[in-house]
Amino acid sequence: MLRRNTWHRDAVKNELAAMGHPTAEELYLSLRAKYPEMSRATVYRNLKILEEAGGIIRVIGSVAGGERFDATVKPHYHFICLKCGAARDLEIPYREGENALIEEKHGVKIEGHRTTFFGYCKDCASKKTDKNGEL
Ligand SMILES: [Zn+2]
Ligand SMILES: [Zn+2]
Repeated sequence: MLRRNTWHRDAVKNELAAMGHPTAEELYLSLRAKYPEMSRATVYRNLKILEEAGGIIRVIGSVAGGERFDATVKPHYHFICLKCGAARDLEIPYREGENALIEEKHGVKIEGHRTTFFGYCKDCASKKTDKNGEL
């Protein structure tokens, strides 16, 4: 039983890492295509366990009910499209110094920060400016 659970957890984490920033539902559909016996409950349960253990993170700012997950736990910044909901990593340096700055200024202990930038992805931005677009 334990071995089976561990196997499921590894599969969930590996698939998540391969997909980037899927929603739990997208992840479940992709896993089910490979492992038809894997239930939605199993995928959601393992996401929760992995998140609590710090093995994965939830992308800050993703839409409630469509939370996106990420197997990259190293601090990094995200971009989320306001129209299609797509999430991606931004290759900009992590501003480590701000943690110390905030600790000093506010007397709190900072463990890290997660920032998400919002806007429109290239596809949605081009549709947005298209006068015949539907946005
Ligand atoms: Zn978009
Ligand atoms: Zn990410």
